[in-house]
Amino acid sequence: MKTHVKALVVGGGAVGTSIAYHLARAGWDDVMLLERDELTSGSTWHAAGLLPLFNMSFATTHIHQYSVEFYKTLEAETGLNAGFSIVGNLRMAQTKARMDEYMLYATTAETCGVPYEWMTPAQMKDRWPLLRTDDLEGAIFHPTDGYINPADVTMAMAKGARQRGVVIERKWQVDAYEWTGSEWRVTLTKMVEKGGNLVASDEQQVITAEHVVTATGNHAQRTANLLGIKIPAIPVEHQFIVTEPDPALVEYRKNGGAEHPVLRDADAKWYVREERGGWILGPYERGAPARFQYGVPDSFRADLFPLDLERIEEEYMSMIHRLPTSETVGLKDDFNGPICYTPDGNPLVGPAPGLRNMWLAEGFSFGITAAGGTGYYLAQMMVEGEAEIDMASLDPKRYGSWMTTDYAVAKNEEAYEHVFILHHPDEEREAARPLRTSPAYDRQAARGAQFGQVNGWERPNYYAPAGFDDHAARSFRRGGWWQYAVDEAKAIREGVGLIDATAFTKHVVKGPGATAFLDWFTCNKLPKVGRINLTYALTAAGTTRTEYTIVRRGEDDYYLVSAGAWTAYDGDFLRKAAEDKAGEFGYIEIQDVTTQYGVFAIAGPKTREVLNAVIRDADPATALSNKRFPWLSARRIELGMCPVDAIRVAYTGELGWELHHPIEMQNYLFDLLMRAGEAHGLKLVGARAQNWLRQEKSYRAFGTELGRDATPQEADLPRFIDLGKEFHGKEAMLEKGIRSTCCTLLIDGPQDADPWGREALYLNGEKVGRLTSGGYSVAFGKSIGMGYLPPELAVEGTKVEVKMLNQLWPAMVTCDSPYDPKNETIRKDG
Ligand SMILES: Cc1cc2nc3c(=O)[nH]c(=O)nc-3n(C[C@H](O)[C@H](O)[C@H](O)COP(=O)(O)OP(=O)(O)OC[C@H]3O[C@@H](n4cnc5c(N)ncnc54)[C@H](O)[C@@H]3O)c2cc1C
Repeated sequence: MKTHVKALVVGGGAVGTSIAYHLARAGWDDVMLLERDELTSGSTWHAAGLLPLFNMSFATTHIHQYSVEFYKTLEAETGLNAGFSIVGNLRMAQTKARMDEYMLYATTAETCGVPYEWMTPAQMKDRWPLLRTDDLEGAIFHPTDGYINPADVTMAMAKGARQRGVVIERKWQVDAYEWTGSEWRVTLTKMVEKGGNLVASDEQQVITAEHVVTATGNHAQRTANLLGIKIPAIPVEHQFIVTEPDPALVEYRKNGGAEHPVLRDADAKWYVREERGGWILGPYERGAPARFQYGVPDSFRADLFPLDLERIEEEYMSMIHRLPTSETVGLKDDFNGPICYTPDGNPLVGPAPGLRNMWLAEGFSFGITAAGGTGYYLAQMMVEGEAEIDMASLDPKRYGSWMTTDYAVAKNEEAYEHVFILHHPDEEREAARPLRTSPAYDRQAARGAQFGQVNGWERPNYYAPAGFDDHAARSFRRGGWWQYAVDEAKAIREGVGLIDATAFTKHVVKGPGATAFLDWFTCNKLPKVGRINLTYALTAAGTTRTEYTIVRRGEDDYYLVSAGAWTAYDGDFLRKAAEDKAGEFGYIEIQDVTTQYGVFAIAGPKTREVLNAVIRDADPATALSNKRFPWLSARRIELGMCPVDAIRVAYTGELGWELHHPIEMQNYLFDLLMRAGEAHGLKLVGARAQNWLRQEKSYRAFGTELGRDATPQEADLPRFIDLGKEFHGKEAMLEKGIRSTCCTLLIDGPQDADPWGREALYLNGEKVGRLTSGGYSVAFGKSIGMGYLPPELAVEGTKVEVKMLNQLWPAMVTCDSPYDPKNETIRKDG
């Protein structure tokens, strides 16, 4: 056995095998794939093999789309037939809301080049007469996907990998990882058969590897323990049943009837496909329990759990309703296996938190569908430094150190149960909440806050009268909450509003090396002491890794504020970069102070009047004047008895301050501001109104306009890039040029809907770009969005069209910051 490799992939399921294949295809010629048992002996062997393209996420849709196309090429490359039946995939809708969901999905699919067709109930009945369609609204049909044999596709990828030089070792289990400072020392144990069990022998082996990828499926908890990290990948039971042949189906096929596509009755929570004249029913039922949260027992090999028919009775009955001929058909087989989940249902793909050259590919619930694309994009990240799509939404560090086993269990069970719910874009999931609350949570709740969850934090989305039901208010169009968000947005434009921004990520960077480090780490000029700037840390590929507001508190003392959703993601990058550069720049101290400071953002033309009433200063009337507290500066002030690090910025684009305060004094400050604000109509404002307001100012948001697929130049932020200095990623950014450009659009859309930021943009019938954000503008009285267009189109006055609700609606590119383009209100003196 080889004892040193460039890359060691652990886990020979569909995912690990694809990663090994793609690393070799990307040019790494020294790759080993390790499997403790046989290839495909994990979850892969019992998967139903469906390859659904449907996905609301841009990154995941790309991954699934790649897989479907890639699997079609495998036979030509390897000579092995992966058993790909391209029967298409029919998603039926029982309700108008479900059709709305499909229309939103369809426009996202268009941004990724995924083909689809609409079908009426009559068209379905005509094509597949066994289907009951009289109670359906319609369906979306994907002609290019279908199902595959999971073991065969894995074996084909394994053969392709071997042909490209990958060494595959079976019956070796990884039992220890040790980072030497330059490579991983991986200890393996030879596994042997004993009485039908797989047991560890005394034989051990050490392999060193520059890079390790773990793709250990249901064994993710053991992997987490070996690595000393938390991984929220915990399996849930998933069953499917296989019926005896259905005589009506057999007859239909005998008479030349086309094979049924994979059927999905989303409102009934199941998929069905043909299997040797019978049917496979796969329900996503309520009550499926999480398993193996502390590891897979040694006794569980390629095993299954007992069938729980009672749990899936409702779905079973609804299959009979939809396919009436299945009523008299008996059951032939059943599978109840562990299917790995994560709290949001997306896999964990990317660098492991805190570790070097350790890559995770864990938590796959659609692992057969995702394996091909995951291999392709992860190999790009490892070999080239970045993938061509932004993989942040799959990054393992989207959960922080607050994540526990109980949390993962509750959320993973919920993610499973939610597979077929209506995926409202304004959905907030209920499990494991409230968990992380700022002190003012109860006060906000008492005032009608309807909370959303970001990175575990409860954050008000909007405020509504007592008894309001957020769940019933959700919609693909303007939800029942829409008017409240309009009123809140208007309060900030016309009066004064208070937003809880406590979830912001906050890091202190200080020490003798801090200034040189941050100057290299970020692309804008560093601010002077007492001032702030907006800046970007780039990836090695020149794209945007993180957006920071940097406050310079002292010569070598900085306070960095970044997006609340990304604390661990930002912290990991910052710490690793600082470690790398400490030798060159000197000692750099990094502290994550996120949970030490609360943040209230107060904004609106009447902001000064509210703050002047509570500020303690020798001359309170001038304390917040432009002279003493200019725009883009930071100062310690005292509001009543609360020391506040105030920053004069407002993400809403109105006169305002961010009030960073000791978290333990938050309730005191909240009460003080609410009392002082009463006379001025101070309104509590949630994240939804804020999101609309920032689009009126063309403020890019991290995770939508800003990410690892576009450079800050493409995000059209030249004023925040200092090309006169050297910074990380600069050369790569310049080399990339401008492939597409971020712009803001005003949209004459439907009367009852706004874009969500996933819609395709068209010009003369041709797709030319996509929206990344969307919403409603109170300043312009119409829909607004931000997105990317080819540079020649991203200029003020260009007319394009937005695809919403299956129609094209006129949109026009506006100037940057269409509301108050000269920043007069934000800079107003007083
Ligand atoms: C009933 C059922 C139906 C499903 N149907 C579908 C479907 O239709 N479509 C779809 O896309 N997905 C489906 N899935 C999900 C799919 O099975 C999984 O997402 C997929 O198999 C995950 O692949 P993987 O490679 O990540 O994990 P696995 O296939 O579990 O592979 C992990 C491998 O790692 C090995 N390993 C673990 N630890 C170590 C170690 N320390 N050293 C060496 N080797 C190690 C294991 O032995 C195992 O072989 C289904 C799942 C179930 C339960």
